[in-house]
Amino acid sequence: MDLGGSKIETALVNTDGGILASHHRSTHPEKNPDKVIADIVASTKICLREANQAAWGLGIGVAGQVDKLTGTVRFAPNLGWRNMPLRARLEEALGLPVVINNDVRAATWGEWRHGAGQGVDDLVCLFIGTGIGGGIISGGCLLKGCYNSAGELGHITIIASGRQCRCPNQGCLEAYASGWAIAERAQEAVRADPRAGQTLVALADDIQHISAATISRAYSDGDSLALRLMEETAQYLAAGVVGIVNAFNPCLLILGGGVIQGLPEYIPLIERSVRANALETAVEHLRIVTAALGNKAGVIGAAALARSKIEEPL
Ligand SMILES: [Zn+2]
Repeated sequence: MDLGGSKIETALVNTDGGILASHHRSTHPEKNPDKVIADIVASTKICLREANQAAWGLGIGVAGQVDKLTGTVRFAPNLGWRNMPLRARLEEALGLPVVINNDVRAATWGEWRHGAGQGVDDLVCLFIGTGIGGGIISGGCLLKGCYNSAGELGHITIIASGRQCRCPNQGCLEAYASGWAIAERAQEAVRADPRAGQTLVALADDIQHISAATISRAYSDGDSLALRLMEETAQYLAAGVVGIVNAFNPCLLILGGGVIQGLPEYIPLIERSVRANALETAVEHLRIVTAALGNKAGVIGAAALARSKIEEPL
């Protein structure tokens, strides 16, 4: 299951990462947590009924920080949760072992086991969507950190005292190159130069509705402001990636998420800049590829991660 603030994606996944049944529904965090729990239970039962099979367990990738020992969701801002004992509640309701992880780490596991990273034991996934998250596989292990929060690659600083991020810091990669930041920068650029922004406003109907998807569409139409914003975003992403590959020396960098899916042209621009600016030892064996599982990486990875935990409890 991939549990976010707007949707619950559920799938019954086999040992090869194949999807046997799936179910999608909206999350309603504005109601109460019991409603979300009830929706999780209902989604799980629908998938099992559809496939007419039993499951070994339920793996969940949740958009938040998870206590790996207790399965408690410490903080999930998009769900409005603090200290939610999710594993305990679901094990009681479903009678299945439940394994809970951060959603981006689950997606990283999915790409590693069943997607673009199969067979590579040193890789980094960077998912650029509404926010920016990542995961690091180093020496065949998912890097967890001291308190299970390693991989927050969107919050590395690329510009000291730069734009305010949604975390306490200023100048994070996410504050420049995530979906929300691209939208903010685009809206500022249009306000500063309304003539140059005419195409973006026409596509979005309103300045406030200009999003990263608007930039993708305007770029494809040859709009010059969209081109400039896209090239600047690629430079910010490259600045982040240079630090990431220098720090972790992956064999493979997998780029995914809605921003990259919407405009794959980012990848060659990022790659050129990274090869020019990173340490030679960091890039001479580096490959940069697109994520292979799309928006199914989360459910496939959550399932595979749960299976690995259930088979070999830590
Ligand atoms: Zn940040």
